Amino acid sequence: MKSLMKMKGQLSKYKKEGLVSIMQIQAAIIEEKGQDFQIVDMELDPPHAGEVLVKITACGVCHTDDVARNQLAPVPLPAVFGHEGCGVVVSTGEGVTDFKEGDRVGFSYGYCGKCDSCRSGKPYGCSENYRLNFSGVQYDNTKRLHYKGQDVSSFFGQAAFATHAVVHQNNVIHAPDDVDLEIIGPLGCGIQTGAGAIFNYLHPGADTSILITGCGAVGLSSVMAAGIAGCSNIIACDIVESRLQLAKELGAAHTINAKDIADVPAAVRELTDGAGTHYAIDCTGIGECVRQSLVSVRSAGTCVILGLTQELTIHVETELMGKSKTLAGLVEGLSVPQVFIPKLLNYYRQGKFPFNRLISFYDFKDINQAFMDTKNGKVIKAVLRMC
Ligand code: ZN
Repeated sequence: MKSLMKMKGQLSKYKKEGLVSIMQIQAAIIEEKGQDFQIVDMELDPPHAGEVLVKITACGVCHTDDVARNQLAPVPLPAVFGHEGCGVVVSTGEGVTDFKEGDRVGFSYGYCGKCDSCRSGKPYGCSENYRLNFSGVQYDNTKRLHYKGQDVSSFFGQAAFATHAVVHQNNVIHAPDDVDLEIIGPLGCGIQTGAGAIFNYLHPGADTSILITGCGAVGLSSVMAAGIAGCSNIIACDIVESRLQLAKELGAAHTINAKDIADVPAAVRELTDGAGTHYAIDCTGIGECVRQSLVSVRSAGTCVILGLTQELTIHVETELMGKSKTLAGLVEGLSVPQVFIPKLLNYYRQGKFPFNRLISFYDFKDINQAFMDTKNGKVIKAVLRMC
């Protein structure tokens, strides 16, 4: 009741100011842990100060949506997920100067813009990261979505599994006119994560070797970026043969199917004159896979964790510090979306970063099938078309 009263209060305020009113939209709701997505009608408030209302064109399906749906990341339910959205701006809230009606946009993660990390150019380390991306609220701690009189959480401040979304301008990037809008969404999360680990952190030198484990959208983006950066010996590891085949087409020199090979580090040493790789990136989120990646790098090498990994057991002396190795965990590939995504699109235009090859399209109504096919390894990056 309180929220309904608040909604009415907001509505009269917007009507008074001559702005658009509450909209009826369609969105895929999760009301209880682990349940299937259900597309329902719900209400969406107009944009508050600093926010934009966007008609969603498409949204990528990401493993992190599944993690939150199953409450391994405890996003308050009911919630609307979807954090790789893109679309066209319908209207803007007070104080928005960078975006206007009709602009084509993509979304990325939220950051406050005011903390030490943000002001040091590191929004991926924002002190408000959890609140702005996982707690379900917008920047002013209120929610824009309402269903049956209840406030509904917006995942990553986007809630882009919907026909429309209200999103803070910090989460928004301009989409160029010469690139298909419906492939833009995944750049804002999985693809920038994989490519960012290479371009923003590892900066691999020419003629270096790298092991990339887990060949989903993140890992395959790392494969493509490693090739651009000059790695000459890219080794891709997975348990799905079709993904390894695609990794080869995208630049991997060697592949390892971990289903068939018990000792992955030994196989990696064989492919690197006994030394191990200079770098490793783990995208599996599985502790033992991370350990194998760390063991696979040579002395003074670096291993990066990109997957949401819960626990990891290593022998620190023999597997890490005794060999002067570095083990790093990176969020979003240390990407500043507004700066990094235009760079990735330049590589895409040059044909060096064909991330569109990772994408399979689904109609919005087939959202549960898209999640199933992603989980089973049938598709790499499912993207839902909203219209
Ligand atoms: Zn911040």
